[in-house]
Amino acid sequence: MRIHKEHILEVIEKFDIIIYPLLLTESGNVQREHSFYVPCMLQTLKIKDIDVLFNVPNASKSTCLCFVFSFLPPYLISNLIVSCLREYPLAVVKGEIGLFKDCCVFNIDRTGCAKFVLAKSSHMIQLQVWQWDEVDTEVNQAVLKIVEREINRIVNTRYKLKTVSFEKKWKCETTSFSFDTGFLEFDQVHDGENYYCEEHATVHKYKDYWSGEKSKAPRRISSDQQNYVRMSMIVLEVLSGVLYDRLYIDTKTGEILDRDKLDITEMCKKYCALKINFPSKGFRKIEKVDEISTNEDTIGDDIQRIRVIRNEMQHSSVFALDDTRYQTLITIVHDMLTRFDQRNNPAGESYVKRLDEIRKMELETRSFEEIKERMKAGNLSDIFFMFEVQEQILNLERQITPRPNRNRWKRVQQ
Ligand SMILES: [Zn+2]
Repeated sequence: MRIHKEHILEVIEKFDIIIYPLLLTESGNVQREHSFYVPCMLQTLKIKDIDVLFNVPNASKSTCLCFVFSFLPPYLISNLIVSCLREYPLAVVKGEIGLFKDCCVFNIDRTGCAKFVLAKSSHMIQLQVWQWDEVDTEVNQAVLKIVEREINRIVNTRYKLKTVSFEKKWKCETTSFSFDTGFLEFDQVHDGENYYCEEHATVHKYKDYWSGEKSKAPRRISSDQQNYVRMSMIVLEVLSGVLYDRLYIDTKTGEILDRDKLDITEMCKKYCALKINFPSKGFRKIEKVDEISTNEDTIGDDIQRIRVIRNEMQHSSVFALDDTRYQTLITIVHDMLTRFDQRNNPAGESYVKRLDEIRKMELETRSFEEIKERMKAGNLSDIFFMFEVQEQILNLERQITPRPNRNRWKRVQQ
């Protein structure tokens, strides 16, 4: 018997009858234990006391994920614990190892500030993550993935228990673990919503610990926000293109223009420097595009319009546009793009068609957030732009022959 000891131990270890757990030492290293653990000889602990033993504040607990079985084979939990021991070191508290019959606590990270508990009770196996630091749903998902993979492996391949099946449900953070009814379904409640907890006969606010973005309630953007997104897209994608094409046509210096590096600010400055196509009423301070009358319809007038519309969108502090204002702007832009389709003769789709596509397209919350960021990002350069353009306009006015009339001067200086 003695000569076969090593071999026998290897065999029974292979069959998960005995195990060598990994332990996280005080220095933060993971160490293989010298002693065996025999699951069937483990001490018992009242399952409801496990979080008390580890002194876990309620705020550090995730919702309790439950694998609810129609029939739970008695040794499934032992095998699952063994599987997890191969992935995670055991947690220790006050010199006591967190390994009990039907219940086990593991360290997720080297600091010990993230742990998870596996606990069996009646027909379910429960998983709860304890995170003393900020909640990291990716950590939770990684643990869940391993636990679920191992349960499936044990059920389907190891024991070939075709009749054993489970469903994934959840209970509130402060469950006693032994409470085995009143489960909630995934996707039943969304992040931030209230739900009624049968165990505590009260309402809790749901926080998503397991599935990240997937279970968040789809947020609708308001129609004013949609208007804002559409108009901003028109500015960033269509009007900017119009200005680029115009600049390309009118730049006769042979300078190669890099579209990616030119925003409307830069293009307006470059266009100013060409000293052609001045607005029909000269350069003047314009707050709203409506101040440019419909009979001001030269290239210079329309470039003014592009600049003023862009400023209106960029200076919006609410990132919303009511229907009336949106329609007003659409009409102005539509008329202007019809003129530019004639003047620029753009390659590919006409500007008006591009405008119509943006007016019709489906918008998601994400596009709203993206547009907001893109418009906000331009704010700083815009402030400089206001100064520079004012200065450039004044310089231009001085250079224009014949000398600028007094009235125009006054308007610029206002
Ligand atoms: Zn509750």
